[in-house]
Amino acid sequence: MTQTPQRDPYTTNNAGIPVESDEHSLTVGDTGPVLLQDHYLIEKMAQFNRERVPERVVHAKGSGGYGTFEVTNDVSQFTKADLFQPGRRTEMLARFSTVAGEQGSPDTWRDPRGFALKFYTEYGNYDMVGNNTPVFFVRDPQKFQDFIRSQKRRPDNGLRDNNMQWDFWTLSPESAHMVTWLMGDRGVPKTYRNMNGYSSHTYMWVNGGGERFWIKYHLKTDQGIEFLTQADADRLAGEDTDVHRRDLFDAIARGDHPSWTMYVQVMPFDDAADYRFNPFDLTKVWPHADYPLIEVGRMTLDKNPEDYFVHIEQAAFEPSNLVPGIGPSPDKMLLGRLFSYPDTHRYRIGPNYAQLPPNRPRSAVNSYAKDGPMRYEPANTAAPYAPNSYGGPTADVDRFGDIAGWRAAGEMVREAYALHREDDDFGQPGTMVREVLDEAARDRLASNITGHLSNGVSRPVVERALQYWRNVDKELGDRIAGHFNGG
Ligand code: NDP
Repeated sequence: MTQTPQRDPYTTNNAGIPVESDEHSLTVGDTGPVLLQDHYLIEKMAQFNRERVPERVVHAKGSGGYGTFEVTNDVSQFTKADLFQPGRRTEMLARFSTVAGEQGSPDTWRDPRGFALKFYTEYGNYDMVGNNTPVFFVRDPQKFQDFIRSQKRRPDNGLRDNNMQWDFWTLSPESAHMVTWLMGDRGVPKTYRNMNGYSSHTYMWVNGGGERFWIKYHLKTDQGIEFLTQADADRLAGEDTDVHRRDLFDAIARGDHPSWTMYVQVMPFDDAADYRFNPFDLTKVWPHADYPLIEVGRMTLDKNPEDYFVHIEQAAFEPSNLVPGIGPSPDKMLLGRLFSYPDTHRYRIGPNYAQLPPNRPRSAVNSYAKDGPMRYEPANTAAPYAPNSYGGPTADVDRFGDIAGWRAAGEMVREAYALHREDDDFGQPGTMVREVLDEAARDRLASNITGHLSNGVSRPVVERALQYWRNVDKELGDRIAGHFNGG
Protein backbone atom coordinates (compact mmCIF):
# COMPACT_ATOMS: atom_id res chain seq x y z
CA MET A 1 0.00 0.00 0.00
CA THR A 2 1.44 3.41 -0.97
CA GLN A 3 1.35 6.10 1.71
CA THR A 4 0.33 9.65 0.67
CA PRO A 5 2.98 12.03 1.98
CA GLN A 6 1.58 14.20 4.79
CA ARG A 7 1.56 17.94 4.09
CA ASP A 8 1.33 19.84 7.34
CA PRO A 9 -0.04 22.38 7.68
CA TYR A 10 -2.77 21.47 5.21
CA THR A 11 -5.02 24.18 3.77
CA THR A 12 -8.50 24.52 5.22
CA ASN A 13 -11.36 26.85 4.54
CA ASN A 14 -12.37 29.43 7.15
CA ALA A 15 -14.35 26.79 9.03
CA GLY A 16 -11.22 24.61 9.39
CA ILE A 17 -12.38 22.01 6.88
CA PRO A 18 -9.53 20.55 4.73
CA VAL A 19 -9.81 21.73 1.13
CA GLU A 20 -9.34 19.51 -1.90
CA SER A 21 -7.20 21.86 -4.01
CA ASP A 22 -5.41 25.20 -3.74
CA GLU A 23 -5.42 25.64 -7.50
CA HIS A 24 -8.35 24.09 -9.30
CA SER A 25 -12.04 25.02 -9.22
CA LEU A 26 -14.66 22.28 -9.28
CA THR A 27 -16.00 21.90 -12.84
CA VAL A 28 -18.07 19.42 -14.82
CA GLY A 29 -15.30 17.86 -16.89
CA ASP A 30 -12.22 19.96 -17.60
CA THR A 31 -14.15 22.38 -19.85
CA GLY A 32 -17.47 22.30 -18.00
CA PRO A 33 -19.17 24.98 -15.92
CA VAL A 34 -17.74 26.00 -12.56
CA LEU A 35 -19.96 24.60 -9.85
CA LEU A 36 -21.68 26.69 -7.20
CA GLN A 37 -21.11 23.87 -4.74
CA ASP A 38 -17.36 24.66 -4.81
CA HIS A 39 -17.86 26.37 -1.51
CA TYR A 40 -14.15 27.01 -1.02
CA LEU A 41 -13.96 28.97 -4.29
CA ILE A 42 -17.07 30.96 -3.36
CA GLU A 43 -15.66 31.66 0.10
CA LYS A 44 -12.36 32.88 -1.38
CA MET A 45 -14.06 35.23 -3.83
CA ALA A 46 -16.50 36.59 -1.25
CA GLN A 47 -13.82 37.11 1.38
CA PHE A 48 -11.62 38.90 -1.15
CA ASN A 49 -14.45 41.30 -2.03
CA ARG A 50 -14.68 42.27 1.62
CA GLU A 51 -10.98 42.66 2.45
CA ARG A 52 -11.10 46.44 2.79
CA VAL A 53 -12.61 48.56 5.51
CA PRO A 54 -13.25 52.22 4.66
CA GLU A 55 -9.97 54.06 4.73
CA ARG A 56 -9.59 56.84 7.27
CA VAL A 57 -10.80 60.19 5.87
CA VAL A 58 -7.61 61.70 7.29
CA HIS A 59 -4.35 59.96 8.24
CA ALA A 60 -5.23 57.12 5.84
CA LYS A 61 -1.67 56.03 5.19
CA GLY A 62 0.16 54.96 8.28
CA SER A 63 2.93 52.84 9.72
CA GLY A 64 3.49 51.70 13.24
CA GLY A 65 4.93 49.43 15.84
CA TYR A 66 4.65 48.28 19.40
CA GLY A 67 7.00 49.20 22.23
CA THR A 68 7.39 50.33 25.79
CA PHE A 69 7.20 53.63 27.62
CA GLU A 70 9.40 53.91 30.69
CA VAL A 71 9.30 56.73 33.22
CA THR A 72 12.70 58.35 33.78
CA ASN A 73 11.78 61.31 35.98
CA ASP A 74 9.44 61.79 38.91
CA VAL A 75 6.47 63.88 37.78
CA SER A 76 4.10 62.53 40.43
CA GLN A 77 3.75 66.04 41.89
CA PHE A 78 1.82 66.90 38.70
CA THR A 79 -0.18 63.77 37.94
CA LYS A 80 -1.38 60.63 39.61
CA ALA A 81 -1.77 58.88 36.24
CA ASP A 82 -0.54 55.34 36.68
CA LEU A 83 1.64 55.29 33.57
CA PHE A 84 3.63 58.36 34.69
CA GLN A 85 4.53 57.12 38.19
CA PRO A 86 8.23 56.60 39.00
CA GLY A 87 9.65 53.31 37.76
CA ARG A 88 6.62 52.39 35.61
CA ARG A 89 7.00 50.65 32.27
CA THR A 90 3.92 50.54 30.10
CA GLU A 91 3.41 48.68 26.84
CA MET A 92 2.31 50.87 23.98
CA LEU A 93 1.52 51.17 20.28
CA ALA A 94 2.52 54.04 17.96
CA ARG A 95 1.11 54.89 14.53
CA PHE A 96 2.66 57.54 12.31
CA SER A 97 0.91 58.78 9.20
CA THR A 98 0.51 61.42 6.56
CA VAL A 99 -2.74 63.39 6.70
CA ALA A 100 -4.22 64.25 3.31
CA GLY A 101 -2.96 61.40 1.14
CA GLU A 102 -4.80 58.16 0.54
CA GLN A 103 -3.57 54.63 1.29
CA GLY A 104 -1.30 54.41 -1.74
CA SER A 105 -0.01 57.97 -1.70
CA PRO A 106 3.71 58.77 -1.41
CA ASP A 107 5.12 59.01 2.09
CA THR A 108 7.12 62.08 1.09
CA TRP A 109 4.30 64.46 0.17
CA ARG A 110 4.59 67.73 2.09
CA ASP A 111 2.04 67.21 4.83
CA PRO A 112 1.93 67.16 8.62
CA ARG A 113 2.57 63.72 10.11
CA GLY A 114 0.28 62.02 12.61
CA PHE A 115 1.91 60.82 15.82
CA ALA A 116 -0.68 58.65 17.58
CA LEU A 117 0.14 56.76 20.76
CA LYS A 118 -1.77 54.19 22.77
CA PHE A 119 -0.55 53.25 26.25
CA TYR A 120 -1.94 50.04 27.75
CA THR A 121 -2.11 51.25 31.37
CA GLU A 122 -3.28 49.56 34.58
CA TYR A 123 -6.50 51.59 34.31
CA GLY A 124 -7.34 51.22 30.66
CA ASN A 125 -5.98 52.64 27.43
CA TYR A 126 -4.54 56.12 27.38
CA ASP A 127 -4.40 57.53 23.83
CA MET A 128 -2.63 60.63 22.66
CA VAL A 129 -3.39 61.61 19.10
CA GLY A 130 -0.64 64.07 18.29
CA ASN A 131 1.19 65.36 15.25
CA ASN A 132 4.79 66.15 14.38
CA THR A 133 3.85 69.82 14.76
CA PRO A 134 3.12 71.67 18.02
CA VAL A 135 0.28 73.66 16.41
CA PHE A 136 -2.57 73.17 13.95
CA PHE A 137 -4.25 75.00 11.05
CA VAL A 138 -7.53 75.89 12.78
CA ARG A 139 -8.68 76.36 16.35
CA ASP A 140 -12.39 75.50 16.11
CA PRO A 141 -13.81 72.08 15.18
CA GLN A 142 -16.45 73.90 13.12
CA LYS A 143 -13.71 74.55 10.53
CA PHE A 144 -12.00 71.16 10.51
CA GLN A 145 -14.11 69.47 7.84
CA ASP A 146 -13.80 72.49 5.53
CA PHE A 147 -10.05 72.61 6.09
CA ILE A 148 -9.62 68.94 5.20
CA ARG A 149 -11.78 69.22 2.10
CA SER A 150 -9.58 72.08 0.91
CA GLN A 151 -6.54 69.78 1.18
CA LYS A 152 -8.08 66.70 -0.42
CA ARG A 153 -9.51 66.25 -3.92
CA ARG A 154 -11.79 68.45 -5.98
CA PRO A 155 -15.31 67.16 -6.58
CA ASP A 156 -15.21 67.80 -10.35
CA ASN A 157 -11.95 66.26 -11.55
CA GLY A 158 -10.84 64.28 -8.49
CA LEU A 159 -7.52 66.14 -8.35
CA ARG A 160 -5.76 67.78 -5.45
CA ASP A 161 -5.55 71.51 -5.99
CA ASN A 162 -3.08 74.01 -4.52
CA ASN A 163 -5.57 76.78 -5.28
CA MET A 164 -8.09 75.28 -2.83
CA GLN A 165 -5.38 74.94 -0.21
CA TRP A 166 -4.20 78.54 -0.45
CA ASP A 167 -7.74 79.85 -0.79
CA PHE A 168 -8.66 78.28 2.55
CA TRP A 169 -5.40 79.17 4.28
CA THR A 170 -5.40 82.83 3.25
CA LEU A 171 -9.04 83.19 4.31
CA SER A 172 -8.13 81.60 7.66
CA PRO A 173 -5.27 83.67 9.12
CA GLU A 174 -5.08 81.41 12.18
CA SER A 175 -3.47 78.86 9.82
CA ALA A 176 -0.32 81.00 9.38
CA HIS A 177 1.72 79.38 12.16
CA MET A 178 1.03 75.86 10.94
CA VAL A 179 1.56 76.71 7.27
CA THR A 180 4.93 78.22 8.17
CA TRP A 181 5.83 74.90 9.78
CA LEU A 182 4.49 72.91 6.86
CA MET A 183 6.41 74.90 4.27
CA GLY A 184 9.58 74.79 6.38
CA ASP A 185 12.13 71.99 6.64
CA ARG A 186 10.08 69.92 9.04
CA GLY A 187 7.21 69.74 6.52
CA VAL A 188 8.85 66.60 5.05
CA PRO A 189 10.74 64.53 7.63
CA LYS A 190 13.54 62.29 6.37
CA THR A 191 11.91 59.31 8.11
CA TYR A 192 9.30 58.81 10.79
CA ARG A 193 12.21 58.09 13.12
CA ASN A 194 13.65 61.55 12.55
CA MET A 195 10.69 63.67 13.63
CA ASN A 196 9.35 64.90 16.94
CA GLY A 197 5.84 64.34 18.20
CA TYR A 198 3.71 66.91 20.03
CA SER A 199 0.36 66.57 21.75
CA SER A 200 -0.30 69.99 20.25
CA HIS A 201 -3.40 70.14 22.45
CA THR A 202 -3.27 71.27 26.03
CA TYR A 203 -4.42 68.65 28.53
CA MET A 204 -5.04 68.65 32.25
CA TRP A 205 -3.00 66.69 34.76
CA VAL A 206 -4.31 66.11 38.28
CA ASN A 207 -2.06 64.96 41.12
CA GLY A 208 -2.86 62.74 44.07
CA GLY A 209 -3.92 65.77 46.14
CA GLY A 210 -6.43 66.90 43.53
CA GLU A 211 -4.25 69.80 42.33
CA ARG A 212 -4.72 70.64 38.64
CA PHE A 213 -2.17 71.66 35.99
CA TRP A 214 -2.34 72.42 32.28
CA ILE A 215 0.22 70.50 30.25
CA LYS A 216 1.54 70.01 26.73
CA TYR A 217 3.52 66.94 25.65
CA HIS A 218 6.67 67.00 23.52
CA LEU A 219 8.26 63.78 22.26
CA LYS A 220 11.73 64.54 20.97
CA THR A 221 13.32 62.08 18.61
CA ASP A 222 16.47 60.42 19.95
CA GLN A 223 17.53 59.80 16.33
CA GLY A 224 17.87 63.54 15.70
CA ILE A 225 15.72 65.76 13.50
CA GLU A 226 16.38 65.25 9.81
CA PHE A 227 14.35 66.41 6.85
CA LEU A 228 14.10 66.07 3.07
CA THR A 229 14.45 68.94 0.65
CA GLN A 230 11.55 69.38 -1.76
CA ALA A 231 13.73 67.99 -4.58
CA ASP A 232 14.60 64.85 -2.60
CA ALA A 233 10.99 64.40 -1.51
CA ASP A 234 9.78 64.66 -5.12
CA ARG A 235 12.38 62.17 -6.31
CA LEU A 236 11.56 59.68 -3.54
CA ALA A 237 7.83 59.97 -4.22
CA GLY A 238 8.56 58.28 -7.55
CA GLU A 239 11.37 55.97 -6.51
CA ASP A 240 9.84 54.53 -3.35
CA THR A 241 6.28 55.53 -2.47
CA ASP A 242 6.52 53.69 0.84
CA VAL A 243 9.96 54.88 1.89
CA HIS A 244 8.92 55.89 5.42
CA ARG A 245 6.92 52.75 6.07
CA ARG A 246 9.84 50.66 4.83
CA ASP A 247 12.36 52.57 6.95
CA LEU A 248 10.40 52.14 10.17
CA PHE A 249 9.71 48.46 9.62
CA ASP A 250 13.30 47.68 8.59
CA ALA A 251 14.81 49.61 11.50
CA ILE A 252 12.69 47.74 14.05
CA ALA A 253 13.34 44.42 12.30
CA ARG A 254 17.12 44.86 12.41
CA GLY A 255 17.05 45.82 16.11
CA ASP A 256 17.73 49.52 15.56
CA HIS A 257 14.83 50.44 17.84
CA PRO A 258 13.76 54.07 17.52
CA SER A 259 13.05 56.02 20.68
CA TRP A 260 11.67 59.37 21.71
CA THR A 261 12.12 61.23 25.00
CA MET A 262 8.89 62.58 26.41
CA TYR A 263 8.78 65.99 28.04
CA VAL A 264 5.93 68.11 29.33
CA GLN A 265 5.42 71.80 29.73
CA VAL A 266 3.48 72.38 32.94
CA MET A 267 1.38 75.49 33.51
CA PRO A 268 -0.09 76.06 36.97
CA PHE A 269 -3.88 75.99 36.72
CA ASP A 270 -4.40 79.64 37.63
CA ASP A 271 -1.84 80.97 35.12
CA ALA A 272 -4.16 80.21 32.23
CA ALA A 273 -6.55 83.11 32.82
CA ASP A 274 -4.06 85.87 32.11
CA TYR A 275 -1.19 84.17 30.30
CA ARG A 276 0.01 86.34 27.41
CA PHE A 277 -1.27 83.78 24.85
CA ASN A 278 -4.49 81.84 25.10
CA PRO A 279 -3.09 78.54 26.36
CA PHE A 280 -5.97 76.55 24.83
CA ASP A 281 -5.58 77.92 21.31
CA LEU A 282 -4.25 75.08 19.16
CA THR A 283 -2.55 77.54 16.77
CA LYS A 284 -0.17 78.73 19.51
CA VAL A 285 2.79 77.25 21.38
CA TRP A 286 3.84 78.05 24.91
CA PRO A 287 7.33 79.51 24.53
CA HIS A 288 9.90 77.33 26.26
CA ALA A 289 11.22 80.29 28.21
CA ASP A 290 7.79 80.65 29.89
CA TYR A 291 7.23 76.94 30.53
CA PRO A 292 10.42 74.89 30.17
CA LEU A 293 10.39 71.26 29.16
CA ILE A 294 10.35 68.75 32.03
CA GLU A 295 11.49 65.22 31.20
CA VAL A 296 9.01 62.41 31.83
CA GLY A 297 10.27 59.25 30.16
CA ARG A 298 11.22 57.44 27.00
CA MET A 299 9.22 55.45 24.48
CA THR A 300 10.99 52.80 22.43
CA LEU A 301 9.47 50.86 19.55
CA ASP A 302 10.85 47.34 19.35
CA LYS A 303 8.19 45.14 17.77
CA ASN A 304 6.74 45.21 14.29
CA PRO A 305 3.10 44.33 13.77
CA GLU A 306 2.84 40.71 12.70
CA ASP A 307 -0.05 41.66 10.40
CA TYR A 308 -0.29 45.22 9.12
CA PHE A 309 -4.06 45.22 8.68
CA VAL A 310 -4.85 43.68 12.05
CA HIS A 311 -2.54 45.85 14.12
CA ILE A 312 -2.09 49.14 12.27
CA GLU A 313 -5.04 49.53 9.92
CA GLN A 314 -7.44 48.51 12.67
CA ALA A 315 -5.68 50.50 15.37
CA ALA A 316 -8.19 52.98 16.76
CA PHE A 317 -6.79 55.95 18.65
CA GLU A 318 -9.11 58.33 20.43
CA PRO A 319 -8.23 61.36 22.53
CA SER A 320 -11.32 60.55 24.59
CA ASN A 321 -9.34 57.68 26.13
CA LEU A 322 -8.17 59.65 29.16
CA VAL A 323 -7.18 57.73 32.29
CA PRO A 324 -7.44 58.84 35.96
CA GLY A 325 -5.03 61.75 36.54
CA ILE A 326 -5.43 63.14 33.00
CA GLY A 327 -8.27 65.22 31.57
CA PRO A 328 -9.13 67.44 28.63
CA SER A 329 -8.79 71.24 28.52
CA PRO A 330 -10.98 73.98 27.07
CA ASP A 331 -9.15 73.56 23.71
CA LYS A 332 -12.16 73.52 21.36
CA MET A 333 -10.42 71.36 18.76
CA LEU A 334 -9.66 68.76 21.42
CA LEU A 335 -13.23 68.82 22.68
CA GLY A 336 -14.47 68.22 19.11
CA ARG A 337 -12.00 65.39 18.59
CA LEU A 338 -13.20 63.64 21.76
CA PHE A 339 -16.37 62.90 19.80
CA SER A 340 -15.12 62.53 16.25
CA TYR A 341 -12.44 59.88 16.78
CA PRO A 342 -14.51 57.16 18.43
CA ASP A 343 -17.31 58.03 16.02
CA THR A 344 -15.13 57.36 12.99
CA HIS A 345 -13.98 54.04 14.45
CA ARG A 346 -17.55 52.89 14.94
CA TYR A 347 -18.21 53.63 11.29
CA ARG A 348 -14.91 52.33 9.93
CA ILE A 349 -14.36 49.11 11.86
CA GLY A 350 -17.59 48.64 13.81
CA PRO A 351 -18.99 49.39 17.25
CA ASN A 352 -17.00 46.61 18.90
CA TYR A 353 -13.65 47.97 17.67
CA ALA A 354 -12.32 48.06 21.25
CA GLN A 355 -12.17 44.25 21.20
CA LEU A 356 -9.71 44.12 18.28
CA PRO A 357 -6.11 43.18 19.18
CA PRO A 358 -4.46 46.62 18.98
CA ASN A 359 -7.34 48.32 20.81
CA ARG A 360 -8.00 45.79 23.50
CA PRO A 361 -7.10 47.11 26.94
CA ARG A 362 -4.60 44.96 28.81
CA SER A 363 -6.38 45.74 32.07
CA ALA A 364 -9.81 44.58 33.17
CA VAL A 365 -12.82 45.66 31.10
CA ASN A 366 -15.96 45.61 33.24
CA SER A 367 -18.30 47.67 31.09
CA TYR A 368 -21.99 47.06 30.59
CA ALA A 369 -21.73 47.15 26.79
CA LYS A 370 -23.30 44.22 24.99
CA ASP A 371 -24.16 42.90 21.54
CA GLY A 372 -23.58 44.64 18.21
CA PRO A 373 -21.84 43.45 15.05
CA MET A 374 -18.84 41.15 15.50
CA ARG A 375 -18.97 41.08 19.26
CA TYR A 376 -17.11 38.13 20.70
CA GLU A 377 -16.40 39.07 24.34
CA PRO A 378 -19.34 37.94 26.49
CA ALA A 379 -21.33 40.72 28.11
CA ASN A 380 -21.81 40.93 31.85
CA THR A 381 -23.99 37.91 32.22
CA ALA A 382 -24.82 38.38 35.90
CA ALA A 383 -26.92 41.38 34.93
CA PRO A 384 -26.56 43.53 31.81
CA TYR A 385 -27.53 46.73 33.60
CA ALA A 386 -26.46 48.86 36.55
CA PRO A 387 -27.33 49.12 39.33
CA ASN A 388 -28.08 45.45 39.89
CA SER A 389 -28.25 43.14 42.86
CA TYR A 390 -26.47 40.22 41.17
CA GLY A 391 -22.82 41.11 41.72
CA GLY A 392 -22.18 43.16 38.55
CA PRO A 393 -19.44 45.84 38.63
CA THR A 394 -20.09 49.07 40.53
CA ALA A 395 -18.40 52.43 39.86
CA ASP A 396 -15.82 53.02 42.59
CA VAL A 397 -16.58 56.66 43.35
CA ASP A 398 -14.10 56.81 46.21
CA ARG A 399 -11.18 55.88 43.96
CA PHE A 400 -12.26 57.23 40.60
CA GLY A 401 -14.95 59.82 41.32
CA ASP A 402 -12.80 62.93 40.65
CA ILE A 403 -13.70 64.83 37.52
CA ALA A 404 -10.69 66.35 35.77
CA GLY A 405 -12.55 69.52 34.88
CA TRP A 406 -12.87 73.23 35.41
CA ARG A 407 -15.55 75.72 36.30
CA ALA A 408 -17.66 76.97 33.38
CA ALA A 409 -20.68 79.24 33.38
CA GLY A 410 -22.08 81.76 30.94
CA GLU A 411 -24.46 82.43 28.09
CA MET A 412 -24.30 80.08 25.12
CA VAL A 413 -22.34 81.82 22.38
CA ARG A 414 -20.70 81.23 19.03
CA GLU A 415 -17.58 83.27 19.56
CA ALA A 416 -13.84 83.12 19.17
CA TYR A 417 -11.73 82.77 22.30
CA ALA A 418 -11.32 85.98 24.28
CA LEU A 419 -8.03 87.55 23.21
CA HIS A 420 -5.07 87.41 25.55
CA ARG A 421 -2.42 90.19 25.58
CA GLU A 422 -0.23 88.87 22.77
CA ASP A 423 -2.76 86.83 20.85
CA ASP A 424 -2.64 87.38 17.14
CA ASP A 425 -2.32 85.03 14.22
CA PHE A 426 1.01 86.19 12.84
CA GLY A 427 3.19 86.87 15.90
CA GLN A 428 4.39 83.35 16.69
CA PRO A 429 5.09 82.33 13.07
CA GLY A 430 6.96 85.62 12.67
CA THR A 431 9.11 84.74 15.69
CA MET A 432 9.82 81.37 14.14
CA VAL A 433 10.88 82.88 10.81
CA ARG A 434 13.05 85.60 12.35
CA GLU A 435 14.45 83.96 15.49
CA VAL A 436 14.38 80.20 15.07
CA LEU A 437 15.29 79.65 11.41
CA ASP A 438 18.75 80.43 10.10
CA GLU A 439 19.36 82.05 6.73
CA ALA A 440 19.58 78.74 4.86
CA ALA A 441 16.33 77.49 6.43
CA ARG A 442 14.63 80.80 5.48
CA ASP A 443 15.84 80.34 1.90
CA ARG A 444 14.33 76.86 1.76
CA LEU A 445 11.10 78.14 3.34
CA ALA A 446 10.77 80.89 0.71
CA SER A 447 11.58 78.45 -2.08
CA ASN A 448 9.05 75.85 -0.85
CA ILE A 449 6.31 78.50 -0.59
CA THR A 450 7.10 79.94 -4.00
CA GLY A 451 7.12 76.48 -5.60
CA HIS A 452 3.78 75.56 -4.01
CA LEU A 453 2.16 78.87 -4.94
CA SER A 454 3.41 78.57 -8.53
CA ASN A 455 1.47 75.40 -9.13
CA GLY A 456 -2.08 76.18 -10.23
CA VAL A 457 -2.93 78.98 -7.79
CA SER A 458 -5.06 81.79 -9.26
CA ARG A 459 -3.75 85.36 -9.26
CA PRO A 460 -6.24 86.73 -6.67
CA VAL A 461 -5.34 83.91 -4.28
CA VAL A 462 -1.61 84.50 -4.87
CA GLU A 463 -2.16 88.19 -4.04
CA ARG A 464 -3.82 87.24 -0.75
CA ALA A 465 -0.99 84.81 -0.04
CA LEU A 466 1.61 87.55 -0.55
CA GLN A 467 -0.14 89.68 2.06
CA TYR A 468 -0.45 86.64 4.37
CA TRP A 469 3.34 86.12 4.22
CA ARG A 470 4.07 89.84 4.65
CA ASN A 471 1.95 89.64 7.80
CA VAL A 472 4.10 86.76 9.03
CA ASP A 473 7.34 88.52 8.12
CA LYS A 474 7.65 91.56 5.87
CA GLU A 475 10.96 90.48 4.40
CA LEU A 476 9.79 86.93 3.68
CA GLY A 477 6.61 88.26 2.05
CA ASP A 478 8.55 90.75 -0.10
CA ARG A 479 10.92 88.04 -1.18
CA ILE A 480 8.09 85.74 -2.28
CA ALA A 481 6.38 88.71 -3.99
CA GLY A 482 9.62 89.41 -5.86
CA HIS A 483 9.35 86.01 -7.51
CA PHE A 484 5.77 86.60 -8.67
CA ASN A 485 6.41 90.15 -9.78
CA GLY A 486 9.43 89.14 -11.84
CA GLY A 487 11.92 90.33 -9.19
P1 NDP B 1 12.79 78.43 21.55
O1 NDP B 1 13.98 79.06 20.90
O2 NDP B 1 12.86 78.02 22.97
O3 NDP B 1 12.35 77.15 20.71
C1 NDP B 1 12.33 77.11 19.34
C2 NDP B 1 11.99 75.71 18.93
O4 NDP B 1 11.77 75.72 17.54
C3 NDP B 1 13.10 74.69 19.10
O5 NDP B 1 13.17 74.22 20.40
C4 NDP B 1 12.67 73.62 18.12
O6 NDP B 1 11.66 72.80 18.69
C5 NDP B 1 11.92 74.40 17.07
N1 NDP B 1 12.58 74.46 15.78
C6 NDP B 1 13.86 74.57 15.48
N2 NDP B 1 14.04 74.57 14.16
C7 NDP B 1 12.82 74.44 13.61
C8 NDP B 1 12.34 74.38 12.28
N3 NDP B 1 13.16 74.43 11.25
N4 NDP B 1 11.03 74.25 12.08
C9 NDP B 1 10.20 74.20 13.11
N5 NDP B 1 10.59 74.27 14.40
C10 NDP B 1 11.88 74.40 14.62
O7 NDP B 1 11.63 79.44 21.27
P2 NDP B 1 10.12 79.53 21.77
O8 NDP B 1 9.67 78.42 22.61
O9 NDP B 1 9.98 80.90 22.28
O10 NDP B 1 9.36 79.45 20.37
C11 NDP B 1 9.69 80.30 19.29
C12 NDP B 1 9.03 79.76 18.06
O11 NDP B 1 9.55 78.47 17.83
C13 NDP B 1 7.52 79.58 18.24
O12 NDP B 1 6.80 80.70 17.89
C14 NDP B 1 7.26 78.41 17.35
O13 NDP B 1 7.00 78.88 16.04
C15 NDP B 1 8.55 77.63 17.34
N6 NDP B 1 8.47 76.41 18.17
C16 NDP B 1 8.15 76.47 19.50
C17 NDP B 1 7.92 75.34 20.22
C18 NDP B 1 7.43 75.41 21.61
O14 NDP B 1 6.77 74.47 22.04
N7 NDP B 1 7.72 76.46 22.34
C19 NDP B 1 8.09 74.01 19.62
C20 NDP B 1 8.54 74.05 18.27
C21 NDP B 1 8.68 75.23 17.58
P3 NDP B 1 11.90 71.37 19.29
O15 NDP B 1 12.81 71.62 20.45
O16 NDP B 1 10.56 70.93 19.68
O17 NDP B 1 12.55 70.55 18.22
